[in-house]
Amino acid sequence: MTLPIFLIGARGCGKSTVGRTLALAQGCQFIDTDYWLQENAQQTIAAIVEQEGWDGFRARETAALEAVCAPSRVVATGGGIILSEYNRRFMREHGVVVYLCAPVDVLAERLQAFPEEGQRPTLTGKPISEEVSEVLAQRDALYREAAHYVVDAAQSPDKVVSDIEAALQLARAS
Ligand code: ADP
Ligand code: MG
Repeated sequence: MTLPIFLIGARGCGKSTVGRTLALAQGCQFIDTDYWLQENAQQTIAAIVEQEGWDGFRARETAALEAVCAPSRVVATGGGIILSEYNRRFMREHGVVVYLCAPVDVLAERLQAFPEEGQRPTLTGKPISEEVSEVLAQRDALYREAAHYVVDAAQSPDKVVSDIEAALQLARAS
């Protein structure tokens, strides 16, 4: 049995992109909690936040995390999943948690190039690099607290995948 792998990190760090490739390489199923909860709710995240507020969305996110947690899965999570202490502990206790860490300029550049992939409502209404910088300042310590491994996500997707695989070998050997 292989523990689920939880990929955490800021919007744009590559959780979905890298997660799909990693799942294929490991013979695992790939699940995206944001996608899963939108399918389950039959609503977009924007609509959920509008109707239920961020608290309503966060409750659905925790339920999604619990529902998708199963062996042989790669789980890409939403950027704010680590805000809840329960979620941080849940992931650490039930799987291997990998933080895809990238600097603000890299994240902002990716989000600017592909704005439609960050379909979430803006958190602050500020310009993208400012928002990324503020959000990362608030969350970096929480990502690190939740993670078993921290991987440099500013590298090419293939290199990020191979670094995660090296970390997983360590995890499985210990
Ligand atoms: P997340 O799921 O963490 O929000 P995505 O996987 O959707 O991030 O990636 C956001 C954007 O950045 C996508 O357009 C993707 O193609 C690009 N991207 C992701 N990882 C990398 C990488 N390692 N190198 C270059 N571009 C990347
Ligand atoms: Mg994603």
